[in-house]
Amino acid sequence: MEVRRGAPTSAIAFDAPVQSIARRFSSARMVDVDETLLGRLQATGASVSTDLATCVESGRDWWPLAMAWALGGSGPGRAAVVVRPSSVDEVSAVLAVCDAARVPVTTAAGRSGVCGASVPLHGGVLLDMTDVAGVVDVDDSSLLLEVRAGTFGDVLEDELRAKYSVTLGHWPQSVQLSTVGGWLACRSAGQYSTRYGKIEDMVVDVEVVLADGRVLHTGSGGPKAAVGPDLNQVFVGSEGTLGVITSATLRLHPVPAGQRRAAFGFASFVEGLDACRRILRRGATPAVLRLYDEAESARNFEVDDTCALIVLDESDPAVVDAVFSVVDEECAAARSLDVGLVERWLGHRNDVSALEPLYRREIVVDTIEIAGRWAALGPIYDDVRAAVAGVSDLLVVSAHQSHAYTDGACLYFTFAGRPPAEERDRFYVSVWDAATSAVLGRGGALSHHHGVGLNRSRFMRPALGPAFDVLVALKGALDPNGILNPGKLGLPDPYGEVGWP
Ligand SMILES: Cc1cc2nc3c(=O)[nH]c(=O)nc-3n(C[C@H](O)[C@H](O)[C@H](O)COP(=O)(O)OP(=O)(O)OC[C@H]3O[C@@H](n4cnc5c(N)ncnc54)[C@H](O)[C@@H]3O)c2cc1C
Repeated sequence: MEVRRGAPTSAIAFDAPVQSIARRFSSARMVDVDETLLGRLQATGASVSTDLATCVESGRDWWPLAMAWALGGSGPGRAAVVVRPSSVDEVSAVLAVCDAARVPVTTAAGRSGVCGASVPLHGGVLLDMTDVAGVVDVDDSSLLLEVRAGTFGDVLEDELRAKYSVTLGHWPQSVQLSTVGGWLACRSAGQYSTRYGKIEDMVVDVEVVLADGRVLHTGSGGPKAAVGPDLNQVFVGSEGTLGVITSATLRLHPVPAGQRRAAFGFASFVEGLDACRRILRRGATPAVLRLYDEAESARNFEVDDTCALIVLDESDPAVVDAVFSVVDEECAAARSLDVGLVERWLGHRNDVSALEPLYRREIVVDTIEIAGRWAALGPIYDDVRAAVAGVSDLLVVSAHQSHAYTDGACLYFTFAGRPPAEERDRFYVSVWDAATSAVLGRGGALSHHHGVGLNRSRFMRPALGPAFDVLVALKGALDPNGILNPGKLGLPDPYGEVGWP
């Protein structure tokens, strides 16, 4: 699998010819696009394609289970037409046409989502945002970037560094596969988020197109404004269900002049978590503070009988030195490990090739990232592993702490199993059910940065309780005909149930 720079990269190739690829989800109402509507879409100026290969390929994302389906000759969804606008005016015109015709619009960009969020479940229009791309402006004195939503992460970061000596500091593992709009829509976290924050901490303004084609900005004009609630955050995390993000203003940082690294080994995962908590509590925010349990320490770093903590910070050298004096004090009782572990992690951190060979060996693998407050993390770690270990055909379940804050952290679980082929989907659903009920039972958050999509839709009401009705009301107010990404985030779906799981 070769990464395509500035364009979506498929998780896996279909083994069968495209004409024979079946659709995994068939909804109560599958919406076609007739000649009249096609003409109206073409009149918007956007590029419009009904080519079968294009529609099949853009009907899936990196949802790992869909890799198994691909090898079995099916894709999760398929739009009737793929529409590719290149400006906000074209996005607005396309949405106005679709809203009037009650045609579903599923926005997609890098298609690197891992929960099926960009899968067009009911046919209709797949709105491909990858041509609405490019840096609009860099304001160096205020350290602000205006960028179009379809810009890929690696392309953006290269330009920021080369032309302006600044960085966004947002480094998801999928930086080459994903876009600014996708990050905002899914509440993405970069691997350096302990220093730079998650995408929701970076956003100052968002340009959004509503379902009926209205264009608006949600920023309040200045830093830390008090002009009512923060409307940016209505659209951050909305996964294409409330509006289409066409551009954003984000906070920047100078390219850092200093960097230091260290690695430590802890006798237990819980001891390591507590050291991370104490580091954050003292105000030190090393960009990377990743703690692996014993299984993952052995698998990733070949160190035995220890839980490896890797630490990296980058900033002004004086700040980095201060951070490392706190880190060294709080890790004084731990084993000192070879700093080469950090280099090893850096060398592999954007490698996205691990999944495909496992799926080709009929092994089902996925990751479940959640968030919890410090006091809950130890119990969540124990409960999730125990619950998942109880699912038959499981091979392994392990975890690391990937992003840390003063109030808690993200635990990132990995599971693998080898169920019989006819039991594969049952196995997958059982693991997700077991892990999620363990997390919610301890008051944890359903997701930290992968979002909800289709895979986690069934958990939204239990996760949010009565607050879920606020989201349903927002959806009704902003998209009364329910055309935007129907079937996701657990929201009511006017086109009928797709039957997952
Ligand atoms: C190997 C791998 C590693 C990953 N590592 C990370 C990681 O470290 N951190 C992390 O946060 N995520 C990670 N992800 C998940 C994924 O990259 C993120 O969810 C990313 O934000 C998705 O961006 P995208 O452009 O690919 O969006 P897509 O997958 O195309 O879409 C995702 C969702 O966003 C919506 N959307 C996309 N663009 C827009 C827009 N312009 N307006 C409105 N809605 C829009 C879609 O409708 C859909 O609901 C990883 C994925 C893979 C495959």
